[in-house]
Amino acid sequence: MSVRVRFAPSPTGSLHIGGARTALFNYLFAKKYKGNFILRVEDTDQERHEESSVKTLIHSLEWLGLSWDEGLFIQGRDLKSKGDYGPYRQRERLSIYLAQAQKLLQQERAYYCFLTDEEVSQKRKKAMEEGRPFRLLSPYRHLSLEEAEKKRATGEQACIRFKVPEDQTFYRVRDLVRGEVEFPADAAGDFILIRSDGFPVYNFSCAVDDALMKITHIFRGEEHLSNTARQFMIQEALGFTHPVTGHLSLLMGPDKRKLSKRENAESVEYLEEEGFLPEALMNFLAFLGWNPGTEQEYFKQRQLIEAFSTEGLNASSAVFDKDKLLWLNGEHIKNTDNKQLWKTLHPFFERENLVFNSDPLWQDRVLTEMKSGFKTLRQAVEVLKPLSKEGFVLEESAKPVLEWPVAKPFIQRWIKALEKHSEDYLSLEDFKSIQKQIQENLKGKEFFMPLRCAILGKPQGTEIKVLVTLLKRVELIRRAEESLKYIV
Ligand code: GLU
Repeated sequence: MSVRVRFAPSPTGSLHIGGARTALFNYLFAKKYKGNFILRVEDTDQERHEESSVKTLIHSLEWLGLSWDEGLFIQGRDLKSKGDYGPYRQRERLSIYLAQAQKLLQQERAYYCFLTDEEVSQKRKKAMEEGRPFRLLSPYRHLSLEEAEKKRATGEQACIRFKVPEDQTFYRVRDLVRGEVEFPADAAGDFILIRSDGFPVYNFSCAVDDALMKITHIFRGEEHLSNTARQFMIQEALGFTHPVTGHLSLLMGPDKRKLSKRENAESVEYLEEEGFLPEALMNFLAFLGWNPGTEQEYFKQRQLIEAFSTEGLNASSAVFDKDKLLWLNGEHIKNTDNKQLWKTLHPFFERENLVFNSDPLWQDRVLTEMKSGFKTLRQAVEVLKPLSKEGFVLEESAKPVLEWPVAKPFIQRWIKALEKHSEDYLSLEDFKSIQKQIQENLKGKEFFMPLRCAILGKPQGTEIKVLVTLLKRVELIRRAEESLKYIV
């Protein structure tokens, strides 16, 4: 039997870190066992479902590099199901759920229940007042299907409830992460499968889809543990074997509180904009609930697939540690080929309207010298900005320094020395020797600060030793001349 796993998000906005982690573990499992990874969108709950949030979600999954074999895809401007078990959007499967519910009705494993919401809440309230746990006992449990159909024919509204077996008081599940887990089977009584408006509840649509799509394994968040017994009961009643589950540990924020979906700072979309690399994020996510059993922390996608195993999954909660993400991102940046890295940086430069030298050899040299100085692509923009033409702006803080009496003659000597030089670029040695020549009797600050102003437009900031070798000699002259214009 080949492995079939799915990621089944309810799209409510951007893809959150927690969802991305769930998708990743399903993906890794599928890749490891050469199975199929499926994207199914669970969108029956939303009042009005936004097409754009499904597209955002798909974009984030694609960006992360979690490709799927079956499911929902973007084709042109539309969403399209591809695969043998579609459609993969629950909204398009409503007739399938009704047909499966019919089967359960026929087999007396489910029944039409005519209790109104109001009546159910009264029963709940009464149980609370009497201090006993609420367990729904529907007076319609034993009504025959024929009788129920008659009532419905008169226009009475009914939902379809699952008949929780009376003889089964607990349910035992073997979970790949948690081992044996036990649940009371009927804690809340007979639960709804199809609401009176014809829409299925999550547990029903999910159980039906997992069965019909031949899902073999499910990795999902711990918060779904309590749904598992219901889903298994439904699948068994329909005559299907149920998938094997692995309920992943809770994700905590640095404050040790459960990460909320609403915290935008933890959305994949946001992290992409911040300049995290997909492979670094993937590496980071893998460690939220899994470890390889070795000291190795840096993993490329391919290595993760090789190393992944369910034995490495653990049940204790995982903390979202942004510093670790930054560190990993820095490591992935260092290991990215310069040509590729420059390409990845390009949209970030464009957003800031920065134009750099287009010579690939120069770009390669820049990244070799400077890439250990940033941990995100956004930081890279700040670090590399002084190397662009637009990166030289004389700032207010430069002006008082340029007015020092020693500044003007010093900068003039700097220009002269540059003009005498014949190469396009200075080497570090050239720079050091020029510095010695033009320093004369000036002390540290007296020449360093004006020099910074003449190179960076400000007296403080980035180390100039490296920068100066990456700026064309003519550009250094242009900048120095610009700064002289401020000196009267
Ligand atoms: N649609 C559910 C959610 O987004 C997940 C269902 C599942 O993985 O079983 O929380």
